[in-house]
Amino acid sequence: MPRHATIETTQHAQQRMVAILDRLDAEYPGQFEGLHFTSPFQLLIATILSAQCTDERVNSITPALFAKYPTPTAFAAASVDELARDIKPTGYYNAKARNIHACCRELLERFGGVVPATREELVTLPGVGRKTANVILSQAFGQQAITVDTHVARLSNRLGFVHTTDPVAIEHTLMAITPEDRWNDIGRLFITHGRKVCTARKPHCDRCVIAALCPSAILPAAGEHSSVRSRRR
Ligand code: SF4
Repeated sequence: MPRHATIETTQHAQQRMVAILDRLDAEYPGQFEGLHFTSPFQLLIATILSAQCTDERVNSITPALFAKYPTPTAFAAASVDELARDIKPTGYYNAKARNIHACCRELLERFGGVVPATREELVTLPGVGRKTANVILSQAFGQQAITVDTHVARLSNRLGFVHTTDPVAIEHTLMAITPEDRWNDIGRLFITHGRKVCTARKPHCDRCVIAALCPSAILPAAGEHSSVRSRRR
């Protein structure tokens, strides 16, 4: 492929991404129902708990959890068994309790009990992978980072920006086609749109504000009653 063709393709993807973010931002101004937290430390614990669990369920237990364990010291002093019972509704509670306990001990030993603000440091903590680190960087520290969860992965594929389920590959592709000052928008807007319209089981393309920019849009053609695949760029 000629070099200029690759550049044009990337430029087109960049333009389409910005247009998609603009339309979604107009549709969901300031909206995001995520994890509830009042400090980077609370978000760290809530994000570990959110693995294989809905934000809603995590939010239902964290007020009591943070009242009982308000600091890394309190978590580190708890028994893993008791902690597991306290977080049981979030699933995978034995592994999560071990990770939270070990994470808090390391926070105390290596970071003075303060959540670090770099990805390189965050991913050294037990239970913290790249996705969790990006959530903390973007939501707790206001840094630009792309969080690839199940919604972001699904929309990125349906929108034709990627053809993979590998979250790191998706993150790097999205970083390459999105202005850095809009990286946080991807998480907020794709997750909201994925929950409300472009749902996993059945995308509601007929009421999707970005259908004209989506190669996977399934819309009824004029004069037809059945749904047809409509490729629009
Ligand atoms: S047009 Fe359909 S597949 Fe594309 S983003 Fe909208 S709901 Fe999802």
